[in-house]
Amino acid sequence: MSITLSGNNPKSDEGVLFFCTTWEYHAIVEYLEKYVSAIPKLGLNLHFLPNGFVFSEQHCEYVLASLYSDAEADMNSRSLPASVAEYISKTSDFLDSLPLLDCQSCLATGLQRKTIISPETTGEPCRECDGSTKSRPYIYNYKLKFDTFSTFLKFLASCGGFTVK
Ligand SMILES: [Zn+2]
Repeated sequence: MSITLSGNNPKSDEGVLFFCTTWEYHAIVEYLEKYVSAIPKLGLNLHFLPNGFVFSEQHCEYVLASLYSDAEADMNSRSLPASVAEYISKTSDFLDSLPLLDCQSCLATGLQRKTIISPETTGEPCRECDGSTKSRPYIYNYKLKFDTFSTFLKFLASCGGFTVK
């Protein structure tokens, strides 16, 4: 699953499209809701913006200004603020520390099932765990990458507003 944001009036190539997994997007929104003071004032549920929703250029500028101000970072640098990088590092360390669990995809058999809900297997190794019977906990999907968040901020700065695709 993924989310695509399309720039309404891109000022550079960085503002044409933003694409990430739905899990990464929710992790970015979670950071924004918790640490960017402008977000509650928008009165939007950013987790579930419907397809076709238009986020204006003014909203983008408002969010960016608040993010950099709250992070006490220079907006003109267009780099990832240190406090955002610390958040990503801290949450990544937490997710990396979680123990592997019995694979939920193959129900710890190590074998790929014919369909998601089929009791029969194909005899091939499970794609989720490569046949090991162990996999990362579901929450691991929300792991944020520095590049994804940085690309998102550059997109916000140069998209001229965006539409959810
Ligand atoms: Zn498996």
